Amino acid sequence: MLDIDWKSLPFGYFKTDYNVRCYYRNGKWGELEISSSEYINMHMAATCLHYGQEAFEGMKAYRGKDGKIRIFRWNENAKRMRRSAQGVMMAEVPDEIFREAIFKVIKLNEKFVPPYGLGAALYLRPLLIGSGPEVGVKPATEYMFMVFAGPVGPYFKEGFNPVEMQVISDYDRAAPNGTGHIKVGGNYAASLRPLHRGKQEGFASVIFRNSADRRYIDEAGPANFFAIRGDTYITPDSVSILPSITNMSLRQIAKDMGLKVELRQVAIDELGDFDEVGACGTAAVISPIKRIVDRDTGKVFEYCKDRIAGPYSTKLYVTLRAIQEGAEEDIHGWNTIVE
Ligand SMILES: *Cc1c(COP(=O)(O)O)cnc(C)c1O
Repeated sequence: MLDIDWKSLPFGYFKTDYNVRCYYRNGKWGELEISSSEYINMHMAATCLHYGQEAFEGMKAYRGKDGKIRIFRWNENAKRMRRSAQGVMMAEVPDEIFREAIFKVIKLNEKFVPPYGLGAALYLRPLLIGSGPEVGVKPATEYMFMVFAGPVGPYFKEGFNPVEMQVISDYDRAAPNGTGHIKVGGNYAASLRPLHRGKQEGFASVIFRNSADRRYIDEAGPANFFAIRGDTYITPDSVSILPSITNMSLRQIAKDMGLKVELRQVAIDELGDFDEVGACGTAAVISPIKRIVDRDTGKVFEYCKDRIAGPYSTKLYVTLRAIQEGAEEDIHGWNTIVE
């Protein structure tokens, strides 16, 4: 029997029994391999170590109300990882290998899938790296794809309780024609220092502006930003935003709920006009924001009356979670049951 306190799981690394790996050599992908080691053996001149040839994904498998395990829109993660691979010139992982890898890693670690109803899930981390040696700046000829998994609790310790964020302009996450739109480690490296400072200053995360003219909202740390104004769901459109699968799903649910949806540039100047704001992504699903402080001007924007999330954010969150856990009908066919 596993002795895990499912209710107080952090969002962090958790050792499980198995991971899976697949190698690209001589122009083709090999067979998927199962490993019980947490370590990889790698050439010291691997391009991922020197030139940032790496991309990752994050996804969750949920234990449903019916006891079945569901994985949410896995094919979108597979597609996005192929786009990330193209973006930094890596071998693309075929969807079939991606599918086999995630299903295998879930099955092998089935006992680590948390029970229904605690807000916990089995987090999957697919990772693609340039493993072949190069010293000149060029793409590797060998790649390694792996997927590991571990149970996680909610991303923010507050759970679905409103957090405070800080909007900043002295750090950029990604350049307009850079790599902001793909899920590569370099973007995260650029965000570590401002995120760390934001946390030290008391905020759950920071909101980055677009780096071209800093007039628009880009991302809320490692998550997309959205706002509700009247009966409209608004989310930034930008060349340097990572297209969030959670956000894409929330836009659909918003439409299903009868809300209008706007995908457009969102000016910092609009922050005072919104009724509700939040961040969204796989890790937190939705984290409502109660307060945004503009670090440059000291201006404060407040959203959640009585310190609770707004009605639309709550409904969007509850609906998406219910679909992911099989408690609400999956009308768009987003889940795949892991059998
Ligand atoms: C992964 C990620 C997101 C969220 O994407 P989901 O597909 O919803 O998990 C948002 N922003 C950034 C920068 C990300 O890396």
